[in-house]
Amino acid sequence: MGQATQVEYVSTRGVNSCDFITAVKQGLAPDGGLYVPTIIPDQTNLLQESLTDYQSFTKKYLSQFIGRALKESMDSIINSAFNFPLEHIHLDNHLSLLELFHGPTLSFKDFGARFLAQVLTRESGSRLILVATSGDTGSAVASSFDGLDNIRCCVLFPKDKISKRQEAQITCWGKNILAVEVDGNFDDCQSLVKQAFHYPEQLSEFQLSTANSINIGRLLPQMSYYAYTATKHYQVTGKEINFVVPSGNLGNVTACIYAKSSGMPIDKIIIACNANEAVLHYYHTGQYVAADTIQTIANAMDVGAPSNFERLVHFYETHQAFCRDLTVVSVSDKQIQQAIIECKNHYNYVLCPHTATAYFARQKLKLNAACLVATAHPAKFEQVIEPIIKTKLAIPSNLQRLLDRQQTKRTIKADLAALVDVLQS
Ligand SMILES: *Cc1c(COP(=O)(O)O)cnc(C)c1O
Repeated sequence: MGQATQVEYVSTRGVNSCDFITAVKQGLAPDGGLYVPTIIPDQTNLLQESLTDYQSFTKKYLSQFIGRALKESMDSIINSAFNFPLEHIHLDNHLSLLELFHGPTLSFKDFGARFLAQVLTRESGSRLILVATSGDTGSAVASSFDGLDNIRCCVLFPKDKISKRQEAQITCWGKNILAVEVDGNFDDCQSLVKQAFHYPEQLSEFQLSTANSINIGRLLPQMSYYAYTATKHYQVTGKEINFVVPSGNLGNVTACIYAKSSGMPIDKIIIACNANEAVLHYYHTGQYVAADTIQTIANAMDVGAPSNFERLVHFYETHQAFCRDLTVVSVSDKQIQQAIIECKNHYNYVLCPHTATAYFARQKLKLNAACLVATAHPAKFEQVIEPIIKTKLAIPSNLQRLLDRQQTKRTIKADLAALVDVLQS
């Protein structure tokens, strides 16, 4: 693959392509579709290279995806975004975990949010980032934009519907982060963001962007941890790796599929979901039906109508191709609890409720060799985990630091005028 290749981006619903930075600034394509890469360049040349650290690998791996304009800043973007480790740990000879929760807010969302923030802060003009959250996204986005030049970030979260620790991680940041509690549910928060984009004249003084997971700028950097881990595994064992990915909105697993398609040594990809089964239903029947969201104890995966499904359909084109590459398993709350207890007893390792879906799915499929994608640290979900394992979880120091900070928030009714009001005050 020649050095000159530069990937362009096209909407899942359109044909006109644009460069990376345009796709990132827009978030959603003008026709309402999601941006996807027009090609995924083959990167098998990286398999022969001696692997140093994750950051250096990522600079090489992502360089063709980000456009010429950003290439000069790639070193500083990656160094600032990924200033925390990636851990691949082995529970036994066959079972391993890719721990993606060593960033500032202890979930894999730190990877995408920090990369996106570092890209946007290098663009000229002042910008307003609006994001709705039901938990992990808000903290990762707030922490990623905290203190950055030219950017204000407003995080909308539903009143009394997120945990105390989650709220603390959204409301503890500096002046450029506005934490807004909305008297309503998550859908009301999301609807406010959509309205703000729909009626831009009310917010015409701001350049609006969103940091939701539909933004391709959050998805791309996630490809790199799959590529790096698969390459390392291949260099040590000579074998392809199987990934089991706890999934909700299907962003993380889309990144895994793209990494495989770039020629990385990935064999099976398993989508582990909770009781929200829209994608399982599609897997079994070929029919996609958006469903209402069901609440589970793996709440970051509570998504009835996963938005990245549109990217998967665009990528695979047919149900048959989808099923050739992917397996889908749904896991109940009871099975999640069972997995947490069993993994603790067997390996003395405490899984978060999301990662537990991957553990159970691997067992159910009788998949021997597997790498479970560990999406969050269990201490983020102590209210779920502690009653199950009947032990108190130690709080990691990076979480404790955030919990000790002063918290500030504004509370509004769920309407656009109220939102405009707090943004202008
Ligand atoms: C967001 C999240 C997921 C789901 O990831 P998707 O990309 O939405 O499929 C899983 N686990 C945790 C801990 C999360 O925060």
